[in-house]
Amino acid sequence: MSRIHTVHLTASSPDDIAAAGRLLRAGRLVAMPTETVYGLAANALDASAVVRIFEAKGRPADNPLIVHIAEPEALTALCREIPPAALALAQRFWPGPLTLVLPRRAIVPDAVTAGLSTVAVRLPALPAARAVIRAAGTPLAAPSANLSGRPSPTTADHVRADFEGLIDAILDGGPCQWGIESTVVSVAHHPPRLLRPGGVTRESLCEVIPNLVVDPAVRGEPADGETPSAPGMKYRHYAPRAPLTILRGPAVRAADYARSRPGPVAVLCFDEEWNDFAGLARVSYGSRSDPLSLARSLFDALRRLDALNARQLFARCPEGGGVEAAVRNRLRKAAGFQTRDV
Ligand code: AMP
Ligand code: MG
Repeated sequence: MSRIHTVHLTASSPDDIAAAGRLLRAGRLVAMPTETVYGLAANALDASAVVRIFEAKGRPADNPLIVHIAEPEALTALCREIPPAALALAQRFWPGPLTLVLPRRAIVPDAVTAGLSTVAVRLPALPAARAVIRAAGTPLAAPSANLSGRPSPTTADHVRADFEGLIDAILDGGPCQWGIESTVVSVAHHPPRLLRPGGVTRESLCEVIPNLVVDPAVRGEPADGETPSAPGMKYRHYAPRAPLTILRGPAVRAADYARSRPGPVAVLCFDEEWNDFAGLARVSYGSRSDPLSLARSLFDALRRLDALNARQLFARCPEGGGVEAAVRNRLRKAAGFQTRDV
């Protein structure tokens, strides 16, 4: 792909928000912050702009995009039908890290939905994200702003590393508050179905829709030949360059196992286990007792782990519910579902 000049914008500048809006209206690509991760945005109603997102990311065309809106009212223009469960979830969790999959209208290009009869929609909580959508004057299709297969970006630096010279602008809004992508719930399924865990936990969703079911692909690798409900679930994600294995069991035994492997190896661990892994190359991604810290740092830690150029990587993984389940989901995908008990 030919190189272009990437403009660097700042989310705290109203002029820069306006500039981002103008670029988006002109069919260009702008990476922007949200409270989950950075998104690579284009006008969701402009099929040729949306196609550029897929080209820039190297994203498979059958993996649909999330459409971002700034007001709940914008939903009616995109969706044919808004089931009561969707209204209840939107009322409770929007703005915020929850994406709803709903029956779509024809105005949404096939490029966005990968030809599905549904569209995924989110109303982000970060004020700068909503300001960009308003400045653009149109809903924005925005997947995570990483090259396909790389860890999702949680800082403008991560976006630069993947897209400098390949997209029109990067709007810097500082580090993302959540650090992992939104929870995805399909209300086009009956009963509603959790397609991807995230910051809005299964437990809190169940307070609003007790009949929520968890898609089998959330728990494990989709079986060969099975069509996952969220097409994105079938792709290997966030993969570091070296093979990654999750080590389950006491930290000291995990450290012994890692030391016994042919080197060089590197370990992703909790703050509390830092000393247990002494002598090994290691990156901590936060405190085991603070799952939000793990979510916030996970993708940055995976990028730093990758930079250690180890031959084999090991990770410690939280085992609880709530946000820990979302962290575990991302880490298991990064590991290609490789887990070892020690
Ligand atoms: P990303 O934007 O990279 O965070 O990925 C968006 C996720 O939402 C992917 O896993 C997609 O497969 C999923 N998704 C987007 N649109 C739909 C849809 N219409 N139906 C089911 N899953 C969807
Ligand atoms: Mg992504």
